[in-house]
Amino acid sequence: MEALGTFKKELSSARKIVITTHVKPDADALGSSLGLYNYLIRKGHEVTVITPSDYPYFLTWMKGNDEVLDFSSYTDREKAQAKLTTAEIIFCLDFSALDRVNAIGDLIRKSNAYIVNIDHHQDPEDFADFRLWSTSAAATCELVYELIVALGDQALIDKAIASCLYAGIMTDTGGFRHPNTTKNVHLVVAELIEAGADSAKIANLIYDSNSINRLKFIGFAITRRLVILKDLHTAYFVISKKDLKKYQSQTGDTEGLVNYALSLEGIKLAALFSEREDGIKISFRSSVEVPVNKFAADHFQGGGHVNAAGGKSSLSLKKTVERFESLVQEHQEALFHAQVESIH
Ligand code: 5GP
Ligand code: MN
Repeated sequence: MEALGTFKKELSSARKIVITTHVKPDADALGSSLGLYNYLIRKGHEVTVITPSDYPYFLTWMKGNDEVLDFSSYTDREKAQAKLTTAEIIFCLDFSALDRVNAIGDLIRKSNAYIVNIDHHQDPEDFADFRLWSTSAAATCELVYELIVALGDQALIDKAIASCLYAGIMTDTGGFRHPNTTKNVHLVVAELIEAGADSAKIANLIYDSNSINRLKFIGFAITRRLVILKDLHTAYFVISKKDLKKYQSQTGDTEGLVNYALSLEGIKLAALFSEREDGIKISFRSSVEVPVNKFAADHFQGGGHVNAAGGKSSLSLKKTVERFESLVQEHQEALFHAQVESIH
Protein backbone atom coordinates (compact mmCIF):
# COMPACT_ATOMS: atom_id res chain seq x y z
CA MET A 1 0.00 0.00 0.00
CA GLU A 2 1.29 3.50 -0.88
CA ALA A 3 2.16 5.67 2.12
CA LEU A 4 -1.09 6.51 3.87
CA GLY A 5 0.14 9.81 5.38
CA THR A 6 -1.35 12.45 3.05
CA PHE A 7 -4.40 10.37 2.37
CA LYS A 8 -5.12 10.07 6.07
CA LYS A 9 -4.70 13.82 6.49
CA GLU A 10 -7.20 14.45 3.67
CA LEU A 11 -9.77 12.45 5.63
CA SER A 12 -8.97 13.92 9.03
CA SER A 13 -11.79 16.49 8.94
CA ALA A 14 -15.31 16.26 7.49
CA ARG A 15 -15.08 16.41 3.70
CA LYS A 16 -17.35 16.60 0.67
CA ILE A 17 -16.72 13.28 -1.00
CA VAL A 18 -17.89 11.72 -4.27
CA ILE A 19 -17.45 8.03 -4.97
CA THR A 20 -17.75 6.87 -8.55
CA THR A 21 -17.30 3.57 -10.34
CA HIS A 22 -17.40 2.09 -13.84
CA VAL A 23 -20.32 2.13 -16.27
CA LYS A 24 -22.86 -0.67 -15.73
CA PRO A 25 -21.55 -1.37 -12.24
CA ASP A 26 -21.38 -4.99 -11.12
CA ALA A 27 -21.46 -6.22 -7.52
CA ASP A 28 -17.79 -5.39 -6.96
CA ALA A 29 -18.18 -1.88 -8.37
CA LEU A 30 -21.36 -1.05 -6.46
CA GLY A 31 -20.42 -3.08 -3.37
CA SER A 32 -17.06 -1.34 -3.00
CA SER A 33 -18.72 2.06 -3.61
CA LEU A 34 -21.52 1.55 -1.09
CA GLY A 35 -19.26 -0.28 1.38
CA LEU A 36 -16.92 2.71 1.36
CA TYR A 37 -19.89 5.13 1.35
CA ASN A 38 -21.36 3.63 4.51
CA TYR A 39 -17.94 3.68 6.18
CA LEU A 40 -17.25 7.33 5.27
CA ILE A 41 -20.73 8.36 6.43
CA ARG A 42 -19.95 6.73 9.77
CA LYS A 43 -16.78 8.84 9.85
CA GLY A 44 -18.85 12.01 9.51
CA HIS A 45 -18.19 12.93 5.87
CA GLU A 46 -20.73 14.20 3.34
CA VAL A 47 -20.69 11.44 0.72
CA THR A 48 -22.41 10.86 -2.62
CA VAL A 49 -22.11 7.79 -4.84
CA ILE A 50 -22.47 8.61 -8.54
CA THR A 51 -22.65 5.86 -11.17
CA PRO A 52 -22.21 6.57 -14.89
CA SER A 53 -25.25 4.40 -15.70
CA ASP A 54 -27.91 2.25 -14.11
CA TYR A 55 -27.09 -1.18 -12.68
CA PRO A 56 -28.77 -4.58 -12.20
CA TYR A 57 -31.86 -4.86 -9.98
CA PHE A 58 -30.23 -7.67 -7.97
CA LEU A 59 -27.84 -5.13 -6.42
CA THR A 60 -30.44 -2.69 -5.17
CA TRP A 61 -30.62 -4.24 -1.68
CA MET A 62 -27.34 -2.63 -0.65
CA LYS A 63 -27.61 0.04 2.05
CA GLY A 64 -27.35 3.49 0.48
CA ASN A 65 -28.79 2.34 -2.86
CA ASP A 66 -31.62 4.88 -2.65
CA GLU A 67 -29.15 7.75 -2.41
CA VAL A 68 -27.07 6.76 -5.46
CA LEU A 69 -27.17 9.28 -8.33
CA ASP A 70 -27.20 7.89 -11.87
CA PHE A 71 -25.32 10.30 -14.15
CA SER A 72 -27.10 8.94 -17.22
CA SER A 73 -30.51 9.72 -15.78
CA TYR A 74 -32.08 13.03 -16.72
CA THR A 75 -33.43 13.56 -13.21
CA ASP A 76 -30.10 12.93 -11.42
CA ARG A 77 -27.61 14.51 -13.79
CA GLU A 78 -27.69 18.13 -12.64
CA LYS A 79 -27.32 17.20 -8.99
CA ALA A 80 -24.55 14.71 -9.80
CA GLN A 81 -22.69 17.33 -11.83
CA ALA A 82 -22.88 19.81 -8.93
CA LYS A 83 -21.64 17.19 -6.47
CA LEU A 84 -18.71 16.32 -8.74
CA THR A 85 -17.80 19.97 -9.24
CA THR A 86 -17.79 20.81 -5.53
CA ALA A 87 -16.23 17.56 -4.28
CA GLU A 88 -13.05 17.87 -2.21
CA ILE A 89 -12.21 14.19 -2.60
CA ILE A 90 -13.24 11.87 -5.44
CA PHE A 91 -12.85 8.14 -5.06
CA CYS A 92 -12.63 6.14 -8.30
CA LEU A 93 -13.42 2.51 -7.56
CA ASP A 94 -13.03 -0.66 -9.62
CA PHE A 95 -11.70 1.03 -12.75
CA SER A 96 -8.34 2.50 -13.80
CA ALA A 97 -9.12 4.09 -17.15
CA LEU A 98 -11.18 7.26 -17.34
CA ASP A 99 -13.03 6.09 -20.45
CA ARG A 100 -14.81 3.56 -18.17
CA VAL A 101 -16.90 6.33 -16.57
CA ASN A 102 -18.17 8.00 -19.75
CA ALA A 103 -18.82 11.75 -19.32
CA ILE A 104 -17.77 11.67 -15.64
CA GLY A 105 -14.18 11.12 -16.88
CA ASP A 106 -13.91 14.71 -18.14
CA LEU A 107 -15.16 16.13 -14.84
CA ILE A 108 -12.55 14.05 -13.00
CA ARG A 109 -9.82 15.25 -15.36
CA LYS A 110 -10.78 18.89 -14.77
CA SER A 111 -11.39 18.54 -11.04
CA ASN A 112 -9.21 20.14 -8.37
CA ALA A 113 -10.32 17.51 -5.87
CA TYR A 114 -7.95 15.02 -4.28
CA ILE A 115 -8.39 11.94 -6.47
CA VAL A 116 -8.17 8.44 -5.02
CA ASN A 117 -8.10 5.33 -7.21
CA ILE A 118 -8.78 1.91 -5.68
CA ASP A 119 -8.69 -0.90 -8.20
CA HIS A 120 -7.44 -4.33 -9.25
CA HIS A 121 -7.44 -4.12 -13.06
CA GLN A 122 -4.31 -4.31 -15.23
CA ASP A 123 -2.50 -1.31 -16.74
CA PRO A 124 -3.86 1.60 -14.67
CA GLU A 125 -3.82 5.12 -16.09
CA ASP A 126 -2.06 7.69 -13.95
CA PHE A 127 -4.81 10.11 -12.89
CA ALA A 128 -4.90 9.79 -9.10
CA ASP A 129 -3.23 11.59 -6.18
CA PHE A 130 -3.43 8.43 -4.11
CA ARG A 131 -3.65 4.95 -5.52
CA LEU A 132 -4.46 1.69 -3.82
CA TRP A 133 -4.00 -0.75 -6.64
CA SER A 134 -3.19 -4.44 -6.75
CA THR A 135 -3.87 -6.99 -9.45
CA SER A 136 -3.45 -9.74 -6.90
CA ALA A 137 -6.57 -8.55 -5.10
CA ALA A 138 -9.57 -10.59 -6.23
CA ALA A 139 -11.91 -7.64 -5.90
CA THR A 140 -11.92 -3.92 -5.26
CA CYS A 141 -14.02 -4.78 -2.20
CA GLU A 142 -11.04 -6.70 -0.80
CA LEU A 143 -8.90 -3.54 -1.18
CA VAL A 144 -11.55 -1.34 0.44
CA TYR A 145 -11.66 -3.75 3.38
CA GLU A 146 -7.87 -3.55 3.68
CA LEU A 147 -7.95 0.23 3.49
CA ILE A 148 -10.47 0.48 6.33
CA VAL A 149 -8.32 -1.88 8.40
CA ALA A 150 -5.16 0.10 7.57
CA LEU A 151 -6.95 3.25 8.75
CA GLY A 152 -7.47 1.51 12.10
CA ASP A 153 -11.23 1.30 11.68
CA GLN A 154 -11.97 -2.43 11.42
CA ALA A 155 -14.33 -2.03 14.37
CA LEU A 156 -16.50 0.35 12.30
CA ILE A 157 -17.30 -2.38 9.76
CA ASP A 158 -20.95 -3.09 10.53
CA LYS A 159 -23.40 -5.48 8.89
CA ALA A 160 -24.23 -3.05 6.05
CA ILE A 161 -20.59 -2.38 5.13
CA ALA A 162 -19.64 -6.05 5.50
CA SER A 163 -22.54 -7.15 3.27
CA CYS A 164 -21.63 -4.73 0.46
CA LEU A 165 -17.97 -5.81 0.54
CA TYR A 166 -18.82 -9.51 0.79
CA ALA A 167 -21.03 -9.26 -2.32
CA GLY A 168 -18.22 -7.89 -4.47
CA ILE A 169 -15.72 -10.51 -3.35
CA MET A 170 -18.23 -13.30 -3.86
CA THR A 171 -19.05 -12.29 -7.44
CA ASP A 172 -15.53 -11.28 -8.58
CA THR A 173 -14.26 -14.71 -7.49
CA GLY A 174 -17.16 -16.37 -9.36
CA GLY A 175 -18.59 -17.61 -6.06
CA PHE A 176 -15.12 -18.48 -4.69
CA ARG A 177 -14.26 -20.64 -7.72
CA HIS A 178 -11.83 -18.58 -9.84
CA PRO A 179 -8.03 -18.80 -9.40
CA ASN A 180 -8.13 -15.40 -7.64
CA THR A 181 -9.78 -17.07 -4.64
CA THR A 182 -6.71 -16.81 -2.42
CA LYS A 183 -6.12 -17.54 1.22
CA ASN A 184 -6.42 -13.80 1.82
CA VAL A 185 -9.86 -13.78 0.20
CA HIS A 186 -11.02 -16.41 2.67
CA LEU A 187 -9.45 -14.55 5.59
CA VAL A 188 -11.17 -11.32 4.55
CA VAL A 189 -14.60 -12.90 4.03
CA ALA A 190 -14.23 -14.66 7.39
CA GLU A 191 -13.88 -11.22 8.98
CA LEU A 192 -16.81 -9.87 6.96
CA ILE A 193 -19.01 -12.75 8.10
CA GLU A 194 -17.87 -12.08 11.67
CA ALA A 195 -18.90 -8.43 11.16
CA GLY A 196 -22.41 -9.47 10.14
CA ALA A 197 -22.43 -10.41 6.43
CA ASP A 198 -24.92 -13.24 5.88
CA SER A 199 -23.26 -15.33 3.16
CA ALA A 200 -26.28 -17.46 2.24
CA LYS A 201 -28.62 -14.49 2.13
CA ILE A 202 -26.29 -12.42 -0.07
CA ALA A 203 -25.78 -15.34 -2.47
CA ASN A 204 -29.54 -15.73 -2.61
CA LEU A 205 -30.16 -12.02 -3.27
CA ILE A 206 -27.64 -11.96 -6.11
CA TYR A 207 -27.90 -15.36 -7.74
CA ASP A 208 -31.50 -16.38 -7.06
CA SER A 209 -33.46 -13.36 -8.16
CA ASN A 210 -34.06 -14.25 -11.81
CA SER A 211 -37.17 -13.08 -13.56
CA ILE A 212 -38.88 -15.72 -15.71
CA ASN A 213 -38.02 -13.58 -18.75
CA ARG A 214 -34.35 -13.82 -17.88
CA LEU A 215 -34.46 -17.62 -17.54
CA LYS A 216 -36.32 -17.91 -20.85
CA PHE A 217 -33.78 -15.58 -22.43
CA ILE A 218 -30.87 -17.75 -21.21
CA GLY A 219 -32.63 -20.85 -22.58
CA PHE A 220 -33.17 -19.10 -25.91
CA ALA A 221 -29.57 -17.87 -26.07
CA ILE A 222 -28.12 -21.33 -25.40
CA THR A 223 -30.48 -22.98 -27.89
CA ARG A 224 -30.38 -20.45 -30.70
CA ARG A 225 -27.54 -17.99 -30.26
CA LEU A 226 -24.52 -20.07 -29.24
CA VAL A 227 -21.79 -20.72 -31.78
CA ILE A 228 -19.16 -23.38 -31.05
CA LEU A 229 -15.81 -23.44 -32.86
CA LYS A 230 -14.58 -26.74 -31.50
CA ASP A 231 -11.22 -26.72 -33.29
CA LEU A 232 -10.48 -23.26 -31.94
CA HIS A 233 -11.56 -24.13 -28.37
CA THR A 234 -13.89 -21.16 -28.68
CA ALA A 235 -17.60 -20.62 -28.12
CA TYR A 236 -19.58 -17.40 -28.27
CA PHE A 237 -23.05 -15.89 -28.01
CA VAL A 238 -24.40 -13.33 -30.47
CA ILE A 239 -27.32 -11.35 -29.07
CA SER A 240 -29.09 -8.77 -31.19
CA LYS A 241 -31.06 -5.73 -30.09
CA LYS A 242 -34.18 -7.55 -31.26
CA ASP A 243 -33.41 -10.55 -29.03
CA LEU A 244 -32.99 -8.28 -26.01
CA LYS A 245 -36.27 -6.56 -26.77
CA LYS A 246 -38.17 -9.80 -27.29
CA TYR A 247 -37.25 -10.99 -23.79
CA GLN A 248 -37.74 -7.52 -22.25
CA SER A 249 -34.13 -7.63 -21.14
CA GLN A 250 -33.27 -5.59 -18.04
CA THR A 251 -29.83 -4.32 -17.05
CA GLY A 252 -27.99 -7.35 -15.66
CA ASP A 253 -29.93 -9.95 -17.63
CA THR A 254 -26.95 -10.86 -19.84
CA GLU A 255 -24.55 -10.96 -16.88
CA GLY A 256 -23.08 -14.43 -16.45
CA LEU A 257 -24.38 -15.67 -19.81
CA VAL A 258 -20.86 -15.86 -21.25
CA ASN A 259 -19.93 -18.37 -18.51
CA TYR A 260 -22.25 -20.98 -20.05
CA ALA A 261 -20.08 -20.91 -23.17
CA LEU A 262 -16.92 -21.31 -21.10
CA SER A 263 -18.45 -24.17 -19.12
CA LEU A 264 -18.48 -26.36 -22.24
CA GLU A 265 -15.94 -29.14 -22.17
CA GLY A 266 -12.86 -28.27 -24.25
CA ILE A 267 -13.74 -24.59 -24.52
CA LYS A 268 -10.98 -22.21 -23.42
CA LEU A 269 -12.19 -18.93 -24.86
CA ALA A 270 -15.74 -17.66 -24.56
CA ALA A 271 -17.30 -14.43 -25.74
CA LEU A 272 -20.62 -12.64 -25.65
CA PHE A 273 -21.47 -10.03 -28.26
CA SER A 274 -24.50 -7.94 -27.43
CA GLU A 275 -25.92 -5.21 -29.59
CA ARG A 276 -26.58 -2.09 -27.48
CA GLU A 277 -27.74 1.43 -28.25
CA ASP A 278 -24.15 2.69 -28.38
CA GLY A 279 -22.53 -0.18 -30.26
CA ILE A 280 -21.51 -3.76 -29.63
CA LYS A 281 -20.57 -4.66 -26.07
CA ILE A 282 -18.25 -7.63 -25.74
CA SER A 283 -17.49 -9.85 -22.75
CA PHE A 284 -14.61 -12.30 -22.81
CA ARG A 285 -13.94 -15.17 -20.43
CA SER A 286 -11.15 -17.72 -20.65
CA SER A 287 -9.60 -20.67 -18.91
CA VAL A 288 -6.53 -20.04 -16.76
CA GLU A 289 -3.91 -20.22 -19.51
CA VAL A 290 -5.55 -17.90 -22.07
CA PRO A 291 -4.79 -14.18 -21.51
CA VAL A 292 -7.96 -12.63 -22.77
CA ASN A 293 -7.38 -9.08 -21.42
CA LYS A 294 -4.54 -8.56 -23.88
CA PHE A 295 -6.69 -9.78 -26.74
CA ALA A 296 -9.46 -7.36 -25.67
CA ALA A 297 -7.02 -4.46 -25.40
CA ASP A 298 -5.24 -5.20 -28.69
CA HIS A 299 -8.34 -5.64 -30.82
CA PHE A 300 -11.50 -4.39 -29.10
CA GLN A 301 -10.62 -1.16 -27.25
CA GLY A 302 -11.00 -2.96 -23.97
CA GLY A 303 -9.18 -4.66 -21.14
CA GLY A 304 -9.88 -6.19 -17.76
CA HIS A 305 -8.45 -9.21 -15.99
CA VAL A 306 -6.40 -12.06 -17.45
CA ASN A 307 -9.41 -14.40 -17.61
CA ALA A 308 -12.33 -11.94 -17.60
CA ALA A 309 -12.24 -8.94 -19.85
CA GLY A 310 -14.45 -6.80 -22.03
CA GLY A 311 -14.40 -4.46 -24.97
CA LYS A 312 -16.48 -2.79 -27.63
CA SER A 313 -16.90 -2.51 -31.37
CA SER A 314 -18.53 0.06 -33.59
CA LEU A 315 -18.88 -2.35 -36.52
CA SER A 316 -22.18 -4.13 -37.10
CA LEU A 317 -22.92 -7.22 -35.02
CA LYS A 318 -22.24 -9.48 -38.00
CA LYS A 319 -18.98 -7.76 -38.96
CA THR A 320 -17.79 -7.75 -35.34
CA VAL A 321 -18.29 -11.49 -35.06
CA GLU A 322 -16.56 -12.13 -38.40
CA ARG A 323 -13.62 -10.04 -37.23
CA PHE A 324 -13.50 -11.92 -33.93
CA GLU A 325 -13.44 -15.29 -35.67
CA SER A 326 -10.61 -14.31 -37.98
CA LEU A 327 -8.62 -12.77 -35.10
CA VAL A 328 -8.92 -15.96 -33.05
CA GLN A 329 -7.84 -17.97 -36.08
CA GLU A 330 -4.92 -15.64 -36.69
CA HIS A 331 -3.78 -15.44 -33.06
CA GLN A 332 -4.50 -18.98 -31.96
CA GLU A 333 -0.81 -19.68 -31.30
CA ALA A 334 -0.51 -16.77 -28.86
CA LEU A 335 -3.90 -17.43 -27.31
CA PHE A 336 -3.72 -21.15 -26.75
CA HIS A 337 -0.02 -22.02 -26.79
CA ALA A 338 0.38 -22.38 -23.02
CA GLN A 339 0.14 -25.85 -21.60
CA VAL A 340 -2.54 -26.60 -19.04
CA GLU A 341 -0.82 -27.39 -15.77
CA SER A 342 -1.72 -30.75 -14.31
CA ILE A 343 -3.50 -30.54 -10.99
CA HIS A 344 -2.53 -34.09 -10.06
P1 5GP B 1 -17.92 -7.92 -18.11
O1 5GP B 1 -17.73 -8.90 -19.18
O2 5GP B 1 -18.42 -8.56 -16.84
O3 5GP B 1 -18.67 -6.70 -18.51
O4 5GP B 1 -16.45 -7.38 -17.76
C1 5GP B 1 -15.43 -8.25 -17.41
C2 5GP B 1 -14.20 -7.47 -17.01
O5 5GP B 1 -13.69 -6.72 -18.10
C3 5GP B 1 -14.45 -6.47 -15.90
O6 5GP B 1 -13.34 -6.51 -15.04
C4 5GP B 1 -14.54 -5.15 -16.59
O7 5GP B 1 -14.08 -4.12 -15.78
C5 5GP B 1 -13.65 -5.34 -17.81
N1 5GP B 1 -14.22 -4.63 -18.96
C6 5GP B 1 -15.43 -4.80 -19.50
N2 5GP B 1 -15.64 -3.98 -20.54
C7 5GP B 1 -14.51 -3.23 -20.65
C8 5GP B 1 -14.10 -2.16 -21.53
O8 5GP B 1 -14.82 -1.73 -22.42
N3 5GP B 1 -12.86 -1.64 -21.29
C9 5GP B 1 -12.01 -2.10 -20.31
N4 5GP B 1 -10.82 -1.53 -20.16
N5 5GP B 1 -12.38 -3.09 -19.49
C10 5GP B 1 -13.60 -3.65 -19.63
MN1 MN C 1 -13.86 -5.78 -9.71
